Amino acid sequence: MPARIDEEDELVCLGHGEDPAEHRGALTPPIFQSALFAQPSLGRLAAGLASEHDHRLYSRGNNPTVGAVEAKLARLERGEACRCLASGMAAVSAVLSSLLVAGDHVLVVNQVYGPTLELLRRLERLGVRHDVTLELDPAAVAAALEKETKLLWLESPGTMLFRTVDVAALSALARARGIVTVLDNSWATPLFQKPLTRGVDLVVHSATKYLGGHSDVVAGAVVGSAARLERLFHDALLLDGGVLSPFDAWLLNRGLRTLPVRMRRHHESGLAVARFLAAHPRVRRVFHPALEAAAPGSLTGFSGLLSFDLGTASWDDLARFVDRLRRFRIGVSWGGVESLVLTPNRGGNAAALAAQGIPPALVRLSVGLEPPDVLIADLEQALSEP
Ligand SMILES: *Cc1c(COP(=O)(O)O)cnc(C)c1O
Repeated sequence: MPARIDEEDELVCLGHGEDPAEHRGALTPPIFQSALFAQPSLGRLAAGLASEHDHRLYSRGNNPTVGAVEAKLARLERGEACRCLASGMAAVSAVLSSLLVAGDHVLVVNQVYGPTLELLRRLERLGVRHDVTLELDPAAVAAALEKETKLLWLESPGTMLFRTVDVAALSALARARGIVTVLDNSWATPLFQKPLTRGVDLVVHSATKYLGGHSDVVAGAVVGSAARLERLFHDALLLDGGVLSPFDAWLLNRGLRTLPVRMRRHHESGLAVARFLAAHPRVRRVFHPALEAAAPGSLTGFSGLLSFDLGTASWDDLARFVDRLRRFRIGVSWGGVESLVLTPNRGGNAAALAAQGIPPALVRLSVGLEPPDVLIADLEQALSEP
């Protein structure tokens, strides 16, 4: 299946819709490296402080360089508004802290990013409970909802195994009970999945991954309705203060310009690598949404992040395989131009992995922009030795 990317989205990424007149004709929006913005009168300052979300006073609130990338992400996700933050975790934590109070319950569906779960465990101290369900069908999710559930947290495709959920069905059942649905869309990017058009209330991103795309900036984003983002701005962003710096926003905007070409290449190379691995006798199983029994649902393309089960119980074998790879660099994170390899196995955590349904010999690949034949040949040589 070829990747499908909306034509309008391609133009938005390239900068159509930006107004060079706002920037003295500069084709590339400049970096407004200023902490504050002087006001023409005391009256304007007072008015601005009364509704800071739509006034430019101080860069902990609004900054034009950050605003340019926020406007772009809002358009790509079909949301009314977006806020960028200093990291994906700052985005996750802003959403949780703006929506939850003591006594609330959060239902997490699917394998999700480890630090998101860790943060939820911390929130237990503040009286916010959570449960995780790895059964993804709507009936199982409905059965796991409680009277106190205020938030349904989705990641689809999920972490490590990349299983997808029925986004429209789950958000509909949450909405019927007055529960807010949030989806971490870092894997698919708004080019391949638009959760807000399927009933999700808020989308979060680690923009460190594909959106930035060059492993040179740490950033996050939250997208949704104007009312929800205004609340997030006042309750979390302005007070927690984890805003994105103008320079990092500029880097993120530059990354977005090539997002469509990069994602097409990640899609094709990721599928080529997945097919090669699926046919290899040493590989027990490949985890990629294209190989799932159920249809890919809301995805119009696939990114380059996938995993496979090397089928060994030996940490030494696993480490030897990873160390033999030459083109895949060993490292955390993903979504950049360069290919990366990682395993969630730390050498003594097989039981914790099993509890999440993750095989001990799972190898995660972030397939980058190198020629796919080179990457496949590298995997071939690493798999060919015992
Ligand atoms: C990396 C990641 C995050 C956190 O983003 P940071 O920018 O590293 O803070 C959140 N969700 C997912 C799915 C991620 O992969």
